Formats: sequence, C-alpha cells, structure tokens
Amino acid sequence: MSKLRYDGQVVVVTGAGGGLGREYCLYFASRGASVVVNDLGGSFKGEGKSTKAADVVVDEIKAAGGKAVANYDSVTDGEKIIETAIKNYGRIDVLINNAGILRDISFKNMKDQDWDLIIAVHVKGSYKCARAAWPYFRKQKYGRVINTASAAGLFGSFGQCNYSAAKLAMVGFTETLAKEGAKYNIHANVIAPIAASRMTETVMPPDILANLKPDWVVPLVAVLVHKDAEENGSIFEVGGGHVAKLRWERSSGLLLKADDTYTPGAILKKWDQVSDFKNAEYPTGAADFMGLLEKSMEMGPNDK
Ligand code: NAD
Repeated sequence: MSKLRYDGQVVVVTGAGGGLGREYCLYFASRGASVVVNDLGGSFKGEGKSTKAADVVVDEIKAAGGKAVANYDSVTDGEKIIETAIKNYGRIDVLINNAGILRDISFKNMKDQDWDLIIAVHVKGSYKCARAAWPYFRKQKYGRVINTASAAGLFGSFGQCNYSAAKLAMVGFTETLAKEGAKYNIHANVIAPIAASRMTETVMPPDILANLKPDWVVPLVAVLVHKDAEENGSIFEVGGGHVAKLRWERSSGLLLKADDTYTPGAILKKWDQVSDFKNAEYPTGAADFMGLLEKSMEMGPNDK
C-alpha cells in the first residue's frame, strides 16, 4: 500500500507541544500537511503557560522541511486556534482535539476547581475548537475530527472522577458530530489512547512505558483522518501496537405490561432478563420505544 499523504491539507492539533500531540504534528507535516501546533505550555495540572512547548515542535518541523505555525491560546479560546489556521493557510481540513490536563484526587476530596478546570479544558475546549472549525468544514463539504477520550472515561478510574466524566463526554460529543456531519463529509471519531507521556510517567513503571511509545498512536489517527477514510462515529482503543473498536451492547431486555402491575416487584421477579446478554444487540441509537410500547400494551398483567 502506498504511503498515506495529506498534501494541501491543513491539520490543527491542540496540546501539541509534547506527548501525543507532538507526534501527530511531526507525522502530518512529514506527509505534506501544513500544521497548526497549538499548546498553552502549562503544567500537566493546567497551571501556568509558555510559548516554548509549541515553538520547539514548530522548529523541529521546519528544520525537517515541513510547514507549521505555532498557536499559544488555550483550547477554551478555540476560535483563536482555528483563526491561526485560516490566517496562515486559508483553510482547515483536520482537527485533532488532543489537549488535556489531569487533576487527580479522590472524589471525597475533590474541589470545584478540580472539576471545573478538567471539564473546561477537555469538554469546552474540544467544543470550542470544533465549533469554530465547523462552518469551514460544512462550506467545503469536508472535515475530519478526532476527539480524545480515555479508558478512564469508558470504564472509570480511581481518583479521576472529573477526568472520567470529561472523557466519556467526548464519546457523546463525537457520536453527535458524526451524525450531524455525515451529509457534509465531515467525519468524527474518538480515541482512547494509551502512551508514555508526562501524563503517564508518574503512574506507570519505566519498562511498561518503554512499550507504549506515543508515536504508536499515530497510525490509527492517520488512517481515520485520511480523505479516503469512511469511518465515522467510532470509538477506538489504541496504544502499544494494539487497535480495537468499541461499541455499545444492549441486552434484549425485559418487557412488561405498562399498567399498575408494573411495579418494582414485577421487575425483580424477572431481573435475569434485564441483564441477559445472550441475544444482545449493538445499538447506534435509542431503543424503539414506540414499538416496545405497542407490544407492552398487548401483554397481559404482570406477576407482581
Ligand atoms: P501531555 O501532557 O504530554 O499533552 C497534553 C498537552 O496539552 C500538553 O502539551 C499541554 O501543555 C497541553 N494543554 C493542556 N491544557 C491546554 C489548554 N487549555 N490549551 C492548549 N493546550 C493545552 O499528555 P498526553 O498523554 O500526550 O495527552 C494527550 C491527550 O491524550 C490528552 O487529552 C489526554 O487526556 C489523552 N490521554 C492520554 C493517555 C496516555 O496514556 N498518555 C491516556 C488516555 C488519554
């Protein structure tokens, strides 16, 4: 297979001064894209700021003969980041919402500031960047968005209630962007990566981190944002050479007569059916409540 190329395309990567973001930038610039390297340059807890993080990556790209420009705004001012793409390159084709911080603390000790900052950077930041890019995507009938979730969001993680909430929000956000964007050839997908970075270096041992190079997340993202990619609204786990798709599973469920015999006792009597995944389905939308309601109305009274 020939190498994937992105010539003439403009790729915006948020939080690109290090870790995964830097790797995305180096890759896309090496494959012909013009890249906006955004980074606020603060600590992994979201404190402070600096122009250095983005500048170093831009210099690296330019030294290798690539095209890149730095942006130092917070993702919460996403419109300024997209403006950098438009001012410098006249368009935007790909948005990789990657910026992130951590404020890990047990739920018992969580302060409003820990919650608010995490939601602001991950959820509002991704929204602001995508919202500003959206009119350009629609007008040109082309756009690719990657949002960044986490296993912490998909499965929960001790001490990361704020981060888990923000990261699962990325899934719902992506699913809806995918549905709204489809007819304009705007595709949105969400990844839950795992990689060595300053975020993980304090929580994982060095031998594991050595096998989780951040550049091993890049190939999947490269595939998903390519112009020929058809994938839209999908969730992936990626890292250490592993790529897997995730989806929802719904049990065939329990259907009861919806009348005054529909009581907690009636549910408890048939609880096994609620969580019986033998004939599970893999939904991409809500259950057909109208159809189910019709069936329920035809049923006899429940055993309470
Ligand atoms: P990282 O700390 O190296 O990179 C995050 C970057 O975002 C930093 O350079 C930081 O300066 C920047 N940033 C933070 N707040 C910003 C803001 N308000 N505006 C602009 N830039 C800002 O960490 P990473 O591991 O490369 O993380 C990249 C993304 O992947 C994050 O969204 C993270 O939550 C997610 N993630 C990473 C892992 C992992 O194993 N590394 C796992 C799950 C999810």
